[in-house]
Amino acid sequence: MLPFRRVAIIGLGLIGSSLARAVRARMPTVVIVGTDADADVRARVMELGLVDELADSAGAAVVAADLVVLAVPLGAFAAVGAEIAPDLAAGAVVSDVGSAKQIVLDALLPVLPQGVHLIPAHPVAGTEKSGPDAGFPTLFDGRWCILTPPDGSDAAAVVRLSEFWARLGSKVDVMEARHHDLVLAVTSHIPHLIAYSIVGTAADLEGVTRGEVIKYSAGGFRDFTRIAASDPTMWRDVFLTNRDAVLEVLGRVSEDLSALQRAIRWSDGDALFQRFSQSRDIRRAIIEAGQDTAEPDFGRHHGDE
Ligand code: NAP
Repeated sequence: MLPFRRVAIIGLGLIGSSLARAVRARMPTVVIVGTDADADVRARVMELGLVDELADSAGAAVVAADLVVLAVPLGAFAAVGAEIAPDLAAGAVVSDVGSAKQIVLDALLPVLPQGVHLIPAHPVAGTEKSGPDAGFPTLFDGRWCILTPPDGSDAAAVVRLSEFWARLGSKVDVMEARHHDLVLAVTSHIPHLIAYSIVGTAADLEGVTRGEVIKYSAGGFRDFTRIAASDPTMWRDVFLTNRDAVLEVLGRVSEDLSALQRAIRWSDGDALFQRFSQSRDIRRAIIEAGQDTAEPDFGRHHGDE
């Protein structure tokens, strides 16, 4: 039996439109209702035929939906929560795809009515693109989706949402919201911050021209620029909403960078070698876990070489 019959998606950018496509592909009898604050996005979603019904507002979208998914930037959650609250059906599951999770509880628990089940979720899948044209139906295939139900959540609602993501091809994990935020600070948020920082540093460096930075980017810089091309609104909101965990991890990163700086200054090759060897082990473990390809240069095609 399908876990949900009528799914409302608020926000139809990269993640929301991918979700619509995936639901259409994997659960074709589910009715998909969508909305987006941006009229151009709504028009494009109609052209692409991504939803069964397009609503003019978030409130109109959620009427009679048994699953509501917020796929808007984290900074918009409180406003969307207040907007949909009066129109939610009794027993509906309210969820989301946001990249930080404690903020979802803080923003939504105070405004949602009794009788609906808030079960936040984070599909750990994405790209550096945004908007409805960037989405694709297999985005969640083989990727983790982390559910962070608050204490006292309805167990049946958690099971239904787990089943929903499993049908979309995801592997599902359940964890406490604050723990999620710390884990993702290490695996996603800080790497993005470092990428934004290093790309900015290279752009501002005197003595090295921008042309040289671009010409010789394959030396490593290029891979940072992909991450640093990610959506500025989304990432601004991630850092503002996961501030505590990010600052905690950033403190550790700064200490470790200083240790490397010291090892270089004092020509401590052993310390450098030991740290770099440890990194290789982690890369190997990621490949063994099926989280990336073992192909050289991330599987990039190099013509006839
Ligand atoms: P996106 O492509 O920019 O799409 C977000 C859409 O939501 C935009 O069309 C935006 O319109 C719309 N929107 C903003 N405020 C709204 C409101 N109040 N009501 C209705 N629609 C509104 O962003 P995305 O990458 O899909 O990210 C969406 C969520 O997914 C974020 O919470 C993010 O943390 C999470 N996430 C992202 C990734 C990733 O790799 N991108 C991965 C996992 C999770 P405007 O353009 O007019 O603002």
